[in-house]
Amino acid sequence: MARSEPIRAVRGVRDILPADRALWRAAEQAAVSTARRFGYEEIVTPIIEQAELIDRVGEETDTVAKELYRFEDRGGRKVALRPEATAGVVRAYFEGGLNQRPQPSRLYLLGPMFRYDRPQKGRYRQFFQFNIEAIGSSSPALDAEVIELASEWLVESGLKDVLLDVNSIGDAKCRPAYLERLKEYYRPLKSQLHGECQARLERNPLRLLDCKVDICQPFKAAAPRITDHLCDECSAHWAAVLRLLDAASIEYRLNPYLVRGLDYYTRTVFEIIPAGASGQQDSLGGGGRYDGLAAAEGWPATPGVGFAGGLDRVTELMAAGGEEIVPSPPAEVVILPDPNLDIAAADVARICRTVRTVSVDYEPKSLRAKMRSANKIGARWVVLLSAEDSARQVAQLKEMAGGEQTEVAWADLPGRLA
Ligand code: AMP
Repeated sequence: MARSEPIRAVRGVRDILPADRALWRAAEQAAVSTARRFGYEEIVTPIIEQAELIDRVGEETDTVAKELYRFEDRGGRKVALRPEATAGVVRAYFEGGLNQRPQPSRLYLLGPMFRYDRPQKGRYRQFFQFNIEAIGSSSPALDAEVIELASEWLVESGLKDVLLDVNSIGDAKCRPAYLERLKEYYRPLKSQLHGECQARLERNPLRLLDCKVDICQPFKAAAPRITDHLCDECSAHWAAVLRLLDAASIEYRLNPYLVRGLDYYTRTVFEIIPAGASGQQDSLGGGGRYDGLAAAEGWPATPGVGFAGGLDRVTELMAAGGEEIVPSPPAEVVILPDPNLDIAAADVARICRTVRTVSVDYEPKSLRAKMRSANKIGARWVVLLSAEDSARQVAQLKEMAGGEQTEVAWADLPGRLA
């Protein structure tokens, strides 16, 4: 690369610029307020984890292993940028002693996740998630609670037109027998499946059900459905979740093809997509139960259920739906000092800052040009400061809309701006 070439962002990541942050903040604030209303507490876990934590819970998946940002740090430790939050939150739940407190722990997390995927629209290598996790209870009421919380978040973000898909994938007791049936069903069809599905047939047959490739679709309808093969406990749990969703008037579609490819996922799985969406690419979020995850990490077996929502897609959809968040101006008040009045201007700004957001235009340009800038950023007031005014500790206050300019003592500015 030529020396003079300017340095750009890493491939697949992007900046969220100030103009877009208002919308993002609305989605984040909706997340925080919804989580808090349901009694969830915030947790922040590191972006880097031991690669082994992710490897242990990601074995066998096509995605996590292939897409993991992994590297050796300067001490030769193998670390990874987290591709999702749950593994780290469960680790923190034990390391931080949350398992010793009244159960379940209700936790939420907002932050960036990293996947080394092929970048494309709506798919980034750094993206942001809102995660909720209820750890330490196997009650079906929590499955329903997490789904209700996720749905309310989207409604509060202005996204009302969404669909909820739900399924149960059983547990270690009933799933193995079901997987045998599924393999038996698919084996005679193997040569007609696409390459990756042929490999999945013996290794991870559940994933045959969520394959999106055209040639694999015709065989799904007649495939055995796991909800017909649940053990008594899983069946009772599933019925209870659906009853709770009905009671909460939450609409859902039973989707027998919604699965998770890992053993530690148990029972409930769900996904939320915009109405009218086609592919998985459009999913706004998903979640489910992971009763086997803690043990997979080497901790005592502990049930949990959670949700991960994608802020990149949620904000994109909010914008597409015409969700108008008028960004507040960077400063409501701009101080416009004459030359050589930096100290006085900073003083006046400090006074005004007690009631308003304030910036100072220190640039060496004409008053006209400064007024234009203040107007462009959407300031509501300007405070003109000349040397003579400054000596008397007064300034000229002007409301951009009104035009009237009045002399105000510095000490009276907060009262006039309030
Ligand atoms: P997952 O953890 O794969 O179930 O993803 C949960 C949500 O995170 C998805 O529904 C997406 O909204 C979002 N998401 C996942 N991967 C990406 C990505 N590479 N870029 C942007 N958003 C993503």
